[in-house]
Order: sequence, then structure tokens, then C-alpha cells
Amino acid sequence: KNLESVDVLVIGAGPSGTVAASILNKNGYHVKIVEKQQFPRFVIGESLLPRCMHNLEKAGFIEAIEKGNFQKKLGAIFADGHETCEFDFSNQFSEGWGWTWQVQRGAFDHLLAREVERMGVKVEHGSAVTAVDFNEKHANATISKADGSTYNIQARFIVDSSGYGRVLPRLLNLDKPSDFPERTSFFCHLRPVEPIVGKEREKIIILVYTKDIWGWVIPFSDGTYSVGIVGDIEGVNQFSGDDEAQFRQWVEEIPALKSRFTNCSLIFPPKRITGYAAAVKKHYGHRFVLTGNSTEFLDPVFSSGVTFATESGALAAELVSKELSGEAVNWQKEYSEYIQRGVDVFKTFITAWYDGDLQRIFFSQNPNTEMRRQICSVLAGYVWDLDNPFVSKHKRAITSLARVV
Ligand code: FAD
Repeated sequence: KNLESVDVLVIGAGPSGTVAASILNKNGYHVKIVEKQQFPRFVIGESLLPRCMHNLEKAGFIEAIEKGNFQKKLGAIFADGHETCEFDFSNQFSEGWGWTWQVQRGAFDHLLAREVERMGVKVEHGSAVTAVDFNEKHANATISKADGSTYNIQARFIVDSSGYGRVLPRLLNLDKPSDFPERTSFFCHLRPVEPIVGKEREKIIILVYTKDIWGWVIPFSDGTYSVGIVGDIEGVNQFSGDDEAQFRQWVEEIPALKSRFTNCSLIFPPKRITGYAAAVKKHYGHRFVLTGNSTEFLDPVFSSGVTFATESGALAAELVSKELSGEAVNWQKEYSEYIQRGVDVFKTFITAWYDGDLQRIFFSQNPNTEMRRQICSVLAGYVWDLDNPFVSKHKRAITSLARVV
């Protein structure tokens, strides 16, 4: 049989794809996920934000994730030498979840994929979507299996959640360069010689090295850590030797890494990703929608990736359901403009981080408590709460605060 028929084909079983598939399935549609890799597979993006809990909840995943014993995350610590600035998600301006998790994505994504299968969605691993064709009535996708054979799936709609694969942006020529300069990241999972205990396990730590280079420390529940360095390409690659030697030089170079990770074991050879910032010309078209990283990815500094991936996956699923039930959907207003509003808030924060304004605000001695709560909400991913001036007037709020601190 060379042709299969479904209501919705979802490309990719990352968090964006599984959230979308689960909601479509709950809404009564016949959904199939085609995923190129066998799981568990490594992907970066391990520190979640409270806002994404709403989407995991909508998808019915929370209970299963609770059984996965992941590290609870209660906030973020920004540190520049001895100066620190802490945010507790329990003390924020917007209503909603006050905590989330930090997860090894191999295990986390595998768990979500198994959960969506348990709910009745077929997930086909080891097969890639390699071509698409749209006509008035259907979308047709060519699926290439691991054994080299191909078959076709005919769908009423395609949700492209292919992450860094960016399947439809590539096939339909929708790629657009990002507004951000090209940066690089260099990261690894580590096991410290001495276990690190205490409250810092419950937060992500962001370490300022220079204005352009920073590092992350993400504790996991099994006592291992994700540690990464991000910044301009020349700066991040300033050390010599093989990747392990370079990574160990970074650990020695930043005092907060040295004190925790000197002589640690590296769980796998360090990895690099460069030029991850990307954008698209449009988020949707006739019988397709793009979600998660196959739309736009900005920068890892505020851990917003999985939150956007699940927010867009959940919203796309509701809108596809609406359209398939015969109701009209204004994709521009209901989808693109909504997603873009959130992206724009983070864009302002990320720009202000790299131009130094936000670092000055974080480390200023004179914190205004209400503004800190409002900033904390943005850092928790509540970037659609228009009651928060750091959302509704993000640019102006950051610029004027930077001027007075
Ligand atoms: P993915 O999780 O990438 O899943 C896409 C899936 O599609 C993959 O499994 C892939 O195999 C599959 N696929 C690809 N091509 C095809 C094809 N042709 N056919 C079928 N399947 C296909 N985000 C955070 O939230 N927190 C962080 O701390 C964070 N840190 C980051 C650090 C760095 C250095 C970078 C670069 C990013 C970081 N991110 C972070 C972002 C995060 O990695 C992504 O936003 C997130 O993984 C996107 O999820 P997704 O579901 O869209 O895609």
C-alpha cells in the first residue's frame, strides 16, 4: 500500500509536534506524526518556562511528566562575578504556574512521544518527510523510510513541527534571515566531582562573562548538569586544542564554573550549534501551518524555545481543528500576529541583554519590587499578558528603566 490517508500529518515529534498532535487527537481528528529519528535522541533546550506548563496541561501531559522525575525549576539566577540577581517564578506579576522543570530532552521528548501514542496517535520513527505537494482538496507528503523505500500520506492539513529540520520552510522557500547576528553555542553535560546540593539546584544559572558572552548552568535531577557557553563566534572559540580541551578551559576561565566543575566528567564530547537564529516569511499557507522552531528561533538566553514550541503547537492545533470543522480561520490575526507579539517581547529583552541595558537593570542596586515582578513574568514566559507594561510597552519599559538605573 503506497498511500495512507489522515486528517492531519504532523512532521516531527519534539514538544511542538506532540502537543499539537495530542490536542488534534482529543478534538477527534485522525493524526499521524512522522519523526525522522529513533528516540531517545539528543536535542538542546533543557530549561523550560512556567508558561509552557499551560500547554503541556492542555495536551494532557502533566501527569506523565510528573512520573519522569525531572528537576523542578523555581526560577533563574543571573550572576556577574559576585553580583547576582535572582528571580522566583512564584513571585511574579501574571497569574499562572509558578514553577516548571529542567529536563534532559532525550528522555523528556521520548516520554511525550510515548504518551501521545498511548492516547492513540501513531508516531512513525525513522521516517522523514522529503517532499510535499498541495492541491485544492489535499496535502500530499512523500515519506522516505529508513530502508530507502517511500510512500505517500494524503492529509487534509500538515502541521510542520520539524524544529531545526525546518522542512516546509526549506521545501516551500519560506526561510528568512534572522534580525540577530550569527552567534554560536558550545555545550556539554557534566558530572561534578562533588555533588552540588542546596537551593541552587532549583534554578537555571546564567553567568555573564563579557557583555557578548555568557554561560548557562542547568541542574538535572540525577546530579548531572548541562553547561553551555554562548556568544560571538570568535569569542566562544578563543581557546585552542580539541573540543574537550577547549571546554575544560572554559570551565577554568569562569570562576563560577571552576568552583563547581573543575575535574568533572564530560558525559559526551562537547557539541556546538552555530547560526541557530532563523525566521520565516510566513507562518501558514493553504493546508499547512508551521510551529515551534520551524518558524522563528531567537536566542537561548531566556530559555524561551520550548515555550514558543508548545504555545504555537497548541494554538495551531485548535485553529486546524476549527478549520477542519468548517469554520473560517483568520490565520494572520489568530495565529501569526499572536505568535509574533510574544516573539517581539522576547526580541526586545534579548536585544537589551546583548546591548547591556538588561544586565545593568538586573544588577542595579535599587530594584523597584513591582517592576521586578513584571520582568519576572516575562522571564517566566508570560509574554501575552497585556496587563504587564513590560509586555504591552516592552521597548519603552526597558529603555526607560535602563535610563534610570
Ligand atoms: P525539536 O525539538 O527540534 O523537534 C523537531 C523534530 O523534528 C526532531 O525530533 C527532528 O528529528 C524531527 N524532524 C526534522 N526533520 C524532519 C523530517 N524531514 N521528517 C520528519 N521529522 C523531522 N529552549 C528552551 O526552551 N530552553 C532552553 O534552555 C533552550 N536552550 C537552547 C540552547 C541553545 C544553544 C539553542 C540553539 C536552543 C535552545 N533552546 C532552548 C531552543 C530549543 O532547542 C528549541 O526551541 C526546541 O527544541 C524546539 O522544539 P520543536 O518541537 O520545535 O523542535
